[in-house]
Amino acid sequence: LFITFEGTEGVGKSTQLANAAATLESLGVDFIQTREPGGTPMAESIRELLLAPRDEPVNETTELLLMFAARAQHLYTRILPALERGQWVLCDRFTDATFAYQGGGRGVSEDRIAQLETLVQGEVRPDHVVLLDAPVETGMARARKRGELDRFEQEAVAFFERIRDTYRRRAGDDPRRYHIVDASSPLETVTTQVRDLMCKFHAD
Ligand code: C5P
Repeated sequence: LFITFEGTEGVGKSTQLANAAATLESLGVDFIQTREPGGTPMAESIRELLLAPRDEPVNETTELLLMFAARAQHLYTRILPALERGQWVLCDRFTDATFAYQGGGRGVSEDRIAQLETLVQGEVRPDHVVLLDAPVETGMARARKRGELDRFEQEAVAFFERIRDTYRRRAGDDPRRYHIVDASSPLETVTTQVRDLMCKFHAD
């Protein structure tokens, strides 16, 4: 199975990925854990390029193509080979993040993103997407506390509202594949829900 985790800043994605990984281990599932942008040495270099602060304004198309360039490398050299070996893949962000950040956030047309999605991935889509969803202010406050405000995050709260809306709309359109977890609930509740999802995917 190919499972991705998505959400805006500070929703507890890293914590819940660790929780999901621990759950899969306890179930005896053979899996790899990875992230986007990144996941291979070359794709991690592209991530550094994308996240580095710079004086030059970054064109949306440049950003979009770099995201998909990293994704192509990651998909063909790491994700698909793992799936072919029968391993599960647990991935921190994937193409939904591109629809949310570059599409909803930065205003790139969804058609354009969908075209690149088909070009790079063909029919490959995650089997399950766990969306950690919380009001933008909650997450921003947590991320700010950790000093994690990078180039993307210095932009307005409105930017994150658009990202959250895009994630929620995509999740609402395909409830069989998308699983919304209310990340503003107490940590124990979120942890239990994520654990239960992993057990359910394993049982299915
Ligand atoms: O998942 P993580 O928060 O570590 O991602 C690092 C940053 O990359 C995010 O804060 C987000 O702003 C940015 N990003 C993006 N577009 C994507 C994926 C990530 O802008 N498709």
